[in-house]
Amino acid sequence: MSQVEKLLKYQEADSRLLKVEQKLNSSDERKKYMQSRAYLNKAAEKLDQIEAKAKELKNAAERVNARYAELAETLKDFENLDELAGEGNALSFYKRSAQGLAEDLRALKAELNSLVTSMKEQAEEYQALKKSVIAAQKEYPVLQAAFKKYKDEVQREADGITAELKVLAKDIDGDVLKKYQAKRSERVFPILCKLKDDVCPMCGTSLSLAEREKLSGGQVIECENCHRFLYK
Ligand SMILES: [Zn+2]
Repeated sequence: MSQVEKLLKYQEADSRLLKVEQKLNSSDERKKYMQSRAYLNKAAEKLDQIEAKAKELKNAAERVNARYAELAETLKDFENLDELAGEGNALSFYKRSAQGLAEDLRALKAELNSLVTSMKEQAEEYQALKKSVIAAQKEYPVLQAAFKKYKDEVQREADGITAELKVLAKDIDGDVLKKYQAKRSERVFPILCKLKDDVCPMCGTSLSLAEREKLSGGQVIECENCHRFLYK
């Protein structure tokens, strides 16, 4: 058997190994497990955000409280309004002051209302998230076990092919195999291709005269564009 034939045989087994790897990566078991994991990670981030927002709301509530205390203090001035108003033209001053106070209180009430709305929304969001996280946490180990089971099955299949490849590799030139493995790890596949109409069948690059002569002489060359091995 020529080196090309041996390498083709190796590549055939290797293509089965590749399919097995792809099967695992595109499996429902993996997808569901990865989704669940990503969801739980995201939920942790979301919880941090809710916590930060809750802190903000607490600070805002404290500000409203402090502002209310200030206004209440000002209101005390009005307790002795009768006496104060008696002293000249102070009445119009207190009237203006009372109007200002009423405006401040209205603004404070609006701020308080929006704060209460935000707090309600936050509480609802937190409850919904909590419910969904608890469900996801329950489901996660089930999905993880299912993925592991599937992965182990696929691994056994892959181990069988890897053993086959090991035997086939013994017949292949060490340097050639090294180059082949390097390309394989770069996700180039297939690696060894039969020349078609004097162009690389994978990327369509045409060959020089010298290269074509080499190929006719039974040699293997490397496509200068996609770096696959070409033979004739
Ligand atoms: Zn090519």
